[in-house]
Amino acid sequence: MPLIPKSHPRVKSLLIREKLVDGFERGLVAKEGLLAQGRGEAFDYLLGEKTGKSAKHAIKAAAAQLLLAKMPVISVNGNVAALCPKQIVKLSKQTKAKLEVNLFYANQKRKNAIIKTLKNNGAKEILGTNYKTSTKLSGIDSARRIVDRNGIFAADVVVVPLEDGDRTIALRKAGKKVITFDLNPLSRTSQTANITIVDNVTRAIDLLINESKKLSKKNIKVLQKIVDEFDNKKNLAENVIQIKNNLTRRARIA
Ligand code: ATP
Ligand code: MG
Repeated sequence: MPLIPKSHPRVKSLLIREKLVDGFERGLVAKEGLLAQGRGEAFDYLLGEKTGKSAKHAIKAAAAQLLLAKMPVISVNGNVAALCPKQIVKLSKQTKAKLEVNLFYANQKRKNAIIKTLKNNGAKEILGTNYKTSTKLSGIDSARRIVDRNGIFAADVVVVPLEDGDRTIALRKAGKKVITFDLNPLSRTSQTANITIVDNVTRAIDLLINESKKLSKKNIKVLQKIVDEFDNKKNLAENVIQIKNNLTRRARIA
């Protein structure tokens, strides 16, 4: 008999952790990716391990921004490939966004494992795989700045789940609109992106797919209004308040 019911968010979090460890064992996830997961788990715990109101607000803005994009690209790293490969491919199809494998800790073997996983989950075209079309973003050190000329380099909107702050800053400097999933509302990525979804990518991605489907029936004017009215700084402040309220409530119970 388990001590907590199977539907408890804690159990779901442990299953997410298992997926990540499994991804590490299959060569998808870097050692540093395990640490990123740990940092994410801590914030997820503080957020109550559920999708909050401000995350839903950011998801709506992200869906509108993706539908308005001329050339959206989704950047895939090892953690994302281990956690939600099927959904990432589904999101790319739903929003007509290209997929680019872009690793913080570059390694050809790991890249191949990620490509294989995406293909097994229905991806047709995957960018970031051909050194002939690779180019560099300015403003960051060498290993981290390689992007595909036909992908992120040319994109107007880039989705970078679980991204590092230096790269997010470089993408913004290159004029990209950046959408991220990041459980830490205080990270440099969260603070630098145009739209930050402070939620576990495994929970939020299905909501983003559904919202993109829903909003695809709306016209450009409506979508633009949703994007224009979204204030990322204000939304991040609400995420922090959510953490604060959770802590206060739990401290009272304890
Ligand atoms: P930054 O470089 O932006 O200041 P950081 O150095 O603290 O952040 P990184 O390892 O560069 O962290 O980026 C990984 C980010 O992804 C972290 O902020 C972490 O909280 C977040 N994260 C980890 N797992 C998940 C997940 N499953 N869903 C959403 N976010 C996650
Ligand atoms: Mg970092």
